[in-house]
Amino acid sequence: MTLAERTARQRELDRASAVVAACRKCGIGATRRNSVYGEGDPCAALLVVGEGPGETEDKLGRPFVGRAGELLDKMLGAIGLPREDVFIANTVKCRPTLDDGKRLRNRAPDPQEMRNCRPYLDEQIAIVRPRAILALGAPAAKSFLGEKFSITRQRGVWAEGPGKIPTIATFHPAYILRQTGGELTQMKRLVWDDLKRVRAKLDEPIPAPDPELIQGHLFD
Ligand code: URA
Repeated sequence: MTLAERTARQRELDRASAVVAACRKCGIGATRRNSVYGEGDPCAALLVVGEGPGETEDKLGRPFVGRAGELLDKMLGAIGLPREDVFIANTVKCRPTLDDGKRLRNRAPDPQEMRNCRPYLDEQIAIVRPRAILALGAPAAKSFLGEKFSITRQRGVWAEGPGKIPTIATFHPAYILRQTGGELTQMKRLVWDDLKRVRAKLDEPIPAPDPELIQGHLFD
């Protein structure tokens, strides 16, 4: 990737991030402290998509920087991917909350919030053009692979995602952190299998560009 291309993509992402920061399509646009657009390599081969920002992410304006984020960093590190080499985003860019009278609690994004935010995610995909997408947890997986997607039965299987990009789902790190004992051991094993599939996909040779296109370019 040329420096010029990288710079152009980063500029596009910065512009789109400013649009998201001004977005008030949902009620959570008014209750959040910061929008959490996403971050990482604008030319990343892997796009990682979570559910939505939690309290720490909302405070810092960055994705996956709380406990789940620490685990995500370890998961990516286990397949040789430093966090800064991937692009990390969420299905919604504002923290979905529930006011219990005392404090704002995290909740899952509702379908309308996910629909409102989807163009921003699609735009990220169009700018970064990843070779593969890793969906973390059921909401992200369903948003790409259909409402009927079952994370327990269909995780770890490559499917065609947005723009025909190979997409695979695994358990969300926050969900993994809630497991204990034998369940935790079993889940770790499954997630490790999924991560190895991601590594293998990224290690596949990049298809050579169409020679006609190259010629067209050279003799322009
Ligand atoms: N969980 C998510 O799904 N996304 C974040 O950014 C943090 C926690």
